Amino acid sequence: MPYERKVIDIQEIRRQQAICAEIFDRVTADGRRPLAMVDTYGCQQNEADSEKLRGYLAEMGYSFTQDEFQADVIVVNTCAVREHAEMRVLGNVGALNHTKKNKPDQIIAVCGCMVQQEHMAQKIKMSYPVVDLVFGPHELWRFPELLQRVMTRGKRVFATEKDNGAVAEGIPQRRDGSVKAWLSIMYGCNNFCTYCVVPYVRGRERSRRPEDVVAEARELVAAGYKDITLLGQNVNSYGKDLDSGVDFADLIRMVNDIPGDFLIRFMTSHPKDATEKLFKTMAECEKCAHHIHLPVQAGSDRVLKAMNRSYSRAKYLEEVALARQYMPDLVLTTDIIVGFPGETEEDFAETLSLCEEVRFDAMFTFIYSKRVGTPAASMPDPYTRADKQRHFDQLMEVANRISGEKHREYEGRTLRVLVDGETGKPAYNLSSRTNGGRLVHLKGDPALVGQFVDVTITASNTWALYGELAEKQ
Ligand code: SAH
Ligand code: SF4
Repeated sequence: MPYERKVIDIQEIRRQQAICAEIFDRVTADGRRPLAMVDTYGCQQNEADSEKLRGYLAEMGYSFTQDEFQADVIVVNTCAVREHAEMRVLGNVGALNHTKKNKPDQIIAVCGCMVQQEHMAQKIKMSYPVVDLVFGPHELWRFPELLQRVMTRGKRVFATEKDNGAVAEGIPQRRDGSVKAWLSIMYGCNNFCTYCVVPYVRGRERSRRPEDVVAEARELVAAGYKDITLLGQNVNSYGKDLDSGVDFADLIRMVNDIPGDFLIRFMTSHPKDATEKLFKTMAECEKCAHHIHLPVQAGSDRVLKAMNRSYSRAKYLEEVALARQYMPDLVLTTDIIVGFPGETEEDFAETLSLCEEVRFDAMFTFIYSKRVGTPAASMPDPYTRADKQRHFDQLMEVANRISGEKHREYEGRTLRVLVDGETGKPAYNLSSRTNGGRLVHLKGDPALVGQFVDVTITASNTWALYGELAEKQ
């Protein structure tokens, strides 16, 4: 089905905001400030979506709580990428029976990728009567209207129609932190990797217009954010659906041109679309972090092909070499799936050898999880869970060893980090990130949060670096 880029008219969003005002009057009529809880699972895109849900809820007059017993409205924003996340959601939604028993007027909504799958929406309809509202990622822009329907009609509402998705500008956002910000530049995915549910639940690739992205980045910089992550399932194909002539590298340059001291990060890059132009742009733009998260998924060409990843092991290695040529200090991280259907001992050995060859700074490793409706779900899978677990443990050992070794190389070096929060631990009360995104624990004045400081690295382990503030020259 050819995809025609759909844009939600800004007047529609204004109408949703008018509904927020109506809800405000309703829920604050008794002079009370009602409470909402938004519980987020999964990826950064979901975090960004939850900031929009909170933006709407704040306009409706809600304050926020983490206590499900206190909340008047609970929104569970779900993930469908792996079964484990779905089981956690279902367990936690089931447990909300108790909270609703205590507070019968409580409204419980479940949204996001998990419920965009028909079988999951059905499951909630049949087995989780505690849930009042269910809506998929494509309906997020009209959350106020859906919530109002629940409030006024007292009936359960389900909005999970199949859809290719749209672009909606102007939804209010309530961001979590004051230092780091997510900035969605595109939505959806066209890649249909054979194991992955994302293209089915998030719709087709669609980019925001460059001027809208840059305007939002400007607002973030003006508001004092210092670390901006451009988000998309495959940022390297940014702009292909627009006729703006702006590709992802151009977009980085446009954001880099905004005056101010801040860092530009992005995720995720698909290796099939990473270009020399991107690496060159990263190297040339002084605000762009020298970090690429470049998921390789597997080291064997046979498995990569079965996954429909559209690159070979050799191409991936060439790309890494080229990126490192432009940025010798590049931090490289990846995702790997262990136990894809039919992955043999030999295939897995190729994943191990690729990891030894590339030496990733950090690896996110997952055991393959069968997803309903994906091509991989019907591929023969003769290997046992125990085989997969053994491979997973082996890979973790390699990943941890290499991360530890790479971290040790930082010891004694002085580098600029961005202090991004307090840890609550007296020995190292601040957390910070290097330009490449590695975690550094520090001791210092909490007033440093949000500032770039120079730090000398004194110790390290597999997961983090430890440092001391360097003397001011
Ligand atoms: N768009 C991103 C990834 C989104 S999902 C990309 O292509 O890189 C994040 C990670 O989850 C993927 O990189 C993959 O490693 C993992 N993943 C996706 N589907 C999975 C599945 N069915 N089982 C196990 N891991 C999976
Ligand atoms: Fe899933 Fe592949 Fe799209 Fe990433 S690129 S979201 S792994 S289909």
